[in-house]
Amino acid sequence: MRPTLPGLVALATAALLLVAGPAATAADDDPFAEARAAMVRAVALDAERTAEWIGKEELSPRVMEAMGRVPRHLFVPPELQGFGYLNRPLPIGYGQTISQPYIVALMTDLLAPQPDDVAFELGTGSSYQAAVLAELVAGVYTVEIVEPLAASATDRLDALGYDNVTVRAGDGYFGWPEHAPFDIIVVTAAASHVPPPLIAQLKPGGRMVIPVGSPFLTQQLLLIEKKEDGAVTSRQILPVIFVPLTGGH
Ligand code: SAH
Repeated sequence: MRPTLPGLVALATAALLLVAGPAATAADDDPFAEARAAMVRAVALDAERTAEWIGKEELSPRVMEAMGRVPRHLFVPPELQGFGYLNRPLPIGYGQTISQPYIVALMTDLLAPQPDDVAFELGTGSSYQAAVLAELVAGVYTVEIVEPLAASATDRLDALGYDNVTVRAGDGYFGWPEHAPFDIIVVTAAASHVPPPLIAQLKPGGRMVIPVGSPFLTQQLLLIEKKEDGAVTSRQILPVIFVPLTGGH
């Protein structure tokens, strides 16, 4: 069916608005600035909607500012750049995904990152979560089991100037004992249980966030804290879906 005249007029108006809107005011030389700001607003809205689970209406301003700085479009495959600021996960190859921005922001917020903290991440993937953390802590050590992903993450972080992130190819189940203990540990693949080596490498006073449950089904995002006296507590935050933790452990 051919479009009717009113349909065409509506389309033309919409196109005109698009051109006259953001483009006219975008003095910024970052063409993705407006899309990134919209993503941050979408994250804030998700936080409000999930307030009952996460126990607050808003994520920390420091975390939200970091979300507003990291150029997510450069962490997705070039052909998906236009979708880089959707508040959803995207494929990054090798059957893996870059997590949904809201989940990255929530996990980062739960980790309560401090400027002097040293963080460990299991599951570098695109290295987006590592970059967001790197904006907020002193150093990030991240391990990725898929070698080409570890290699491209290293190149990407170098190119973007994230010199406080170190990537290693390997099985992150065993943590990174040479740099332990960590103030922060974040696991971005679904585990059937909390890896004991990671508990051991968490500093007293430290925080770990990890999705635990069945692979390919819903998992629970857990916030684990090690108290100063070494006691470990665990709290369920909300249901999530992550790609599975793999490896021969
Ligand atoms: N943090 C990532 C999300 C990556 S998805 C981001 O911001 O893009 C989870 C990643 O964990 C995948 O890349 C997967 O290959 C990796 N992974 C799965 N099991 C692993 C293991 N045992 N050790 C290290 N990485 C693992």
